[in-house]
Amino acid sequence: MSLNGKTALVTGASRGIGRAVAERLAADGARVAVHYSTNEAAAKETVEAIVAAGGQAFAVQAEFGTDSAVDALYDGLVAGLDGAGLDILVNNAAVVDYADGIEDVGPEQFDRLVAVNVKTPLFLTQRVLPLIPDGGRIVNVSSGVTWFAQPEITYAMTKGALNVFTRSLARTLGPRGITVNAVSPGITETDMNGWLQDPAAAARVAGMVALGRHGQSGDIADVITFFASDEARWVTGQVLEANGGLWLGPNER
Ligand code: NAP
Repeated sequence: MSLNGKTALVTGASRGIGRAVAERLAADGARVAVHYSTNEAAAKETVEAIVAAGGQAFAVQAEFGTDSAVDALYDGLVAGLDGAGLDILVNNAAVVDYADGIEDVGPEQFDRLVAVNVKTPLFLTQRVLPLIPDGGRIVNVSSGVTWFAQPEITYAMTKGALNVFTRSLARTLGPRGITVNAVSPGITETDMNGWLQDPAAAARVAGMVALGRHGQSGDIADVITFFASDEARWVTGQVLEANGGLWLGPNER
């Protein structure tokens, strides 16, 4: 229970990687704000799972990309924290659009992806910063698409921007002992990757990964929890690839 007495906000914690992070931080003792956008039932389920396991959590709603998102999230967070500060911020919520290739992407699509994946996390971080004590932790969830080329061009660009955000913020917040790092998942089984349900697709992915399978949310949550812990106090401004050894080289000899 290394996070006993700490508080955390995980954005996009109703499902997928964010949910696994919320559950893991709570299992380690943190009181967790479970943020969601529209899926109230999934957020409720996450909070109930944490409480059933003996942890503490509350849900906070805000739809990123809307004008009121930062205010709504901040107000819900402060109400749930009930006077406490915010020790750990995990910027995880994001959207992907599989019709985001160079030939298809339009200005509205571009604006939405940038707003949800970059603009709202930036202004949310700015807004909650006064709640984060010296020695606090910020972890941003990036993606391997920053170094392997996918057709979804805007999505990849938003994740590249998050890596730059991570390094810049790490420098700015260093004097306060706040670390800022990014975890970059590889191909991970969540709702975002429904296509992995196809056994042939899963087998193709396994063939690209040194450890021979695609990732699970818990694989990523454990790495994020490391960055949130005291053990990671001397690491900041880094992007860590958590992908089982994706494309290290051909698997066959
Ligand atoms: P997911 O299963 O699709 O879950 C997305 C989460 O984000 C949900 O909690 C969802 O809330 C929330 N969300 C969606 N749209 C939102 C909006 N407009 N405003 C606020 N919240 C919103 O995604 P995931 O696969 O776990 O991805 C988590 C993070 O990992 C993302 O940053 C993603 O880019 C990154 N990542 C994922 C993979 C992968 O293979 N899965 C690979 C690399 C990076 P609701 O439940 O309310 O909709």
